[in-house]
Amino acid sequence: MQTTILFSIIGLLYLNSAAFAKLDMAPPNFTINKGQGNAVFVDFTSADYEITYDVKKATTTVISKIHFTNEERGFPIFDLVEKPMRVVIDGKSTDSQIIEAPRSGEDELIEFRIVSEPIDPGNHLLVIEHQIKSTQYSKGGVNSGFFMSDIGSRALLERYLPCNFEYDQLSMRFMIKVIGATEEEVIFTNGKLKQEGNNLWSIAFPNYFNQSSVYFHIREKAGTDILHFEHRSIDDRNMPITIYKTSRGDMEEYKNLTVKTLSKFENLFGAFPHPTLTIYIGGNGGGMEYSGATVTDAWALPHELAHSFFGRGVMPANGNAGWIDEAMATLVGGPYAADPNDIRAMNMSNHSVYYRDNDSNGYTYGMNFLAFLGIQFSKKNNALNMNGFLKTWMEIADHHVTTVQMLQNNLENYSQLDLNSLFQKYVFGKSKIINKFNLPNPHMKIDDETLTQIQ
Ligand SMILES: [Zn+2]
Repeated sequence: MQTTILFSIIGLLYLNSAAFAKLDMAPPNFTINKGQGNAVFVDFTSADYEITYDVKKATTTVISKIHFTNEERGFPIFDLVEKPMRVVIDGKSTDSQIIEAPRSGEDELIEFRIVSEPIDPGNHLLVIEHQIKSTQYSKGGVNSGFFMSDIGSRALLERYLPCNFEYDQLSMRFMIKVIGATEEEVIFTNGKLKQEGNNLWSIAFPNYFNQSSVYFHIREKAGTDILHFEHRSIDDRNMPITIYKTSRGDMEEYKNLTVKTLSKFENLFGAFPHPTLTIYIGGNGGGMEYSGATVTDAWALPHELAHSFFGRGVMPANGNAGWIDEAMATLVGGPYAADPNDIRAMNMSNHSVYYRDNDSNGYTYGMNFLAFLGIQFSKKNNALNMNGFLKTWMEIADHHVTTVQMLQNNLENYSQLDLNSLFQKYVFGKSKIINKFNLPNPHMKIDDETLTQIQ
């Protein structure tokens, strides 16, 4: 009973943090321009993206309208890799620029983009126009996927659209327009897709989504092999599933693997945490996760589906929490087996507060650390184990972002053990250890070459 009450309290904390105090999860604001002002993190309340594909001109133009609030006067921080053509804040034309986050110790260069105009605290409207350069056009159609990577910095939604950071969950909408296409186009997405006219679609994404959640891919229908079916979820709904591919391979095999894996995870961790599931068999040697979607090869599918629970159901609030879901997804979905006897003192979560990468030790030592903790839990009480914790974790933290401290608190509440010294040594340690296994990474590193290969 005691445990249940504790979980309820923690659950409320998650609720509050998501609904009212998003900026509590943001890194500290910092001084720029030799003390001339502060760069300030902001809270996006909504983002509308109007994306126009012009097939004849082979250009992709995006007009973004972003409503946000800030609590401190300063230059608003956001990100977009591509330099915008037009930036307007509250009706006033301005510009944007790349800035460096403050460095401490051996931190690598961490960059953000800011609006070049300081603003007072309050509600604001930011309008940005830019072009997406990576779109592929054929004679009569377009092929554009917003494929992301969490290996390396600045490779999430900011590769394609102006957006905020992982701590911020918000309502996002796309309006997609294709001009001059002679080929029939098809859209795959984890949002709610609606045809609004001829070659005109809207997509509304669930409001628990953040910068790492969105899945969007438009391509020519010809040459795309598509399978739609429904999965009877453990919560009794018929969940729509789409599997598609552009290569050879047995669709029935992918379907069977998907259903088998989903059923296993639902039995262990509860109902699939998203309205739909979209799978693109096109991982090019790996995979990448989204909220209720993945681009993957068959061998990485269980790992990527596990991420719809861990990583894109419960989402990391920052780079220092990035290892958590790799540890969890690898533990429950492979492709490697955990060795609870091989844990190392190391730094997985003691990087800069501005860290935007994902510590790759999560796949190995992070996973081993969780397996080790599971054994300690069972020693204290044989009704407890790591799968039991993960089920509880989904119940209290699903659709929320999390920090490592929140994970530690929840593990301590579940086990009634003091884990502080273990976390200090194995998670917040000082040692830098490079992943000794040198195993193939289940996440493809997306570069322009990969994008070309998988589209
Ligand atoms: Zn992963």
